[in-house]
Amino acid sequence: MKKIILLFVALILVSCAKTYDPLTGKTTYTLLPESQEIKIGQMYVPLAIEQNDGRYPDKEVQEYISQLGQEIAKHTPRKLNYKFYVVNTDVINAFALPGGFIFVNRGLILALDKEDQLAGVLAHELAHVNARHHAKFLEKMYGMNLLMNLAAIFAYQTKYGNVLMQFGGLGAQLLSLKWSRDQESEADRYGVKFAYEAGYDPRGIIETFYIFKKMDKIHQPEWLLTHPLPDTRIKQVKKLISQLDLNKPLKEDSPRFHYIKNKLEKTKPSYDLYKKAKIKLIKEKQITEALNLVNKAIKLYPQNNAALSLKAHILLKQEKYSEAVKYAVKAAQIDDMFFRPHFFAGYGYFKLKKYKESIKYLTKAKSLIPDFPDTYYFLGRDYEALGNINQAIKNYEKALKLTDGKRGWEADAKRRLQRLLGY
Ligand SMILES: [Zn+2]
Repeated sequence: MKKIILLFVALILVSCAKTYDPLTGKTTYTLLPESQEIKIGQMYVPLAIEQNDGRYPDKEVQEYISQLGQEIAKHTPRKLNYKFYVVNTDVINAFALPGGFIFVNRGLILALDKEDQLAGVLAHELAHVNARHHAKFLEKMYGMNLLMNLAAIFAYQTKYGNVLMQFGGLGAQLLSLKWSRDQESEADRYGVKFAYEAGYDPRGIIETFYIFKKMDKIHQPEWLLTHPLPDTRIKQVKKLISQLDLNKPLKEDSPRFHYIKNKLEKTKPSYDLYKKAKIKLIKEKQITEALNLVNKAIKLYPQNNAALSLKAHILLKQEKYSEAVKYAVKAAQIDDMFFRPHFFAGYGYFKLKKYKESIKYLTKAKSLIPDFPDTYYFLGRDYEALGNINQAIKNYEKALKLTDGKRGWEADAKRRLQRLLGY
């Protein structure tokens, strides 16, 4: 019966999935209607934030990228509720998720010299979204299955979490999508057009290409891995630009770009220390060294939410739970979409036997990234301690369903589950 309903819903969706292609002006058919493309993108925004060490904590910086992005988005044909974020990582990259969520790394802004270069990159990412490249990838990848699963969301209004489970690994794929040569040249074509129509000198993107190409192997921009840049591509973009009227007044730069870049330069030493501390902790397992470095990072920039989260992580390892919770809560307050500090706060509160507080943070963590198994195990422990047996069972079951078997708590979760179920 369930299958029949799903098929029915799917058929309705197929017949509805006529879509207007804003770039060509033609009507095309799609398996993935815009509303669903947006939902998928939205679902993975917190994962993108987590994988890039949180959002940059300075509101002025976020407002700047938002305004610059919206200014260019206004000149693109696809009308979406575009969102722009600056994330903490120093990796030189910018990327988009389906549905118009665009991320700019701190490292990218630091690598650029002028606003038209940044505008060129944003316009290029907007071009991928306008050309529906993500949607085309999803359609090719999942076809009818995708549609059925998405139909289930609408039919039963289940939470994103359940859907995510059926899309195991999709988030990771979306975050490192490699575009084909054809898609790149399409994105270049529209990227140049969008930047130009928004009043920016389109030669900014050429300068960005040269900046990227000049970088040594170690600092190779990640952007080049996902957006291949053979010399033929540069030639093509130059040719496109030569066909434009460059005599009209075009913006190359703005004092605001330099004000923002200067802000990032001032906090760079703090992030560099954070990165060193992270390597000490994870690769070299030198916990005291890591703590020293992260303390310095926080002293230089007390809002550094990536460093605050790392300090919480270190303190948890040292079993200094109440201190750890303090730093985790602070980082979570700075960025309410950053998974890591919420999870750390929840875990710390569990260790302190403050189960209600723990549930609060773990529930939030779960809403951000619903397929991390540990969240459910500790939620189970919290509920069990509070005597809420139903919730404890549900969470242990989910934890065991999601785990890869190497988390360390599986045997304990099974034993507790069996006891609660009365075996
Ligand atoms: Zn591209």
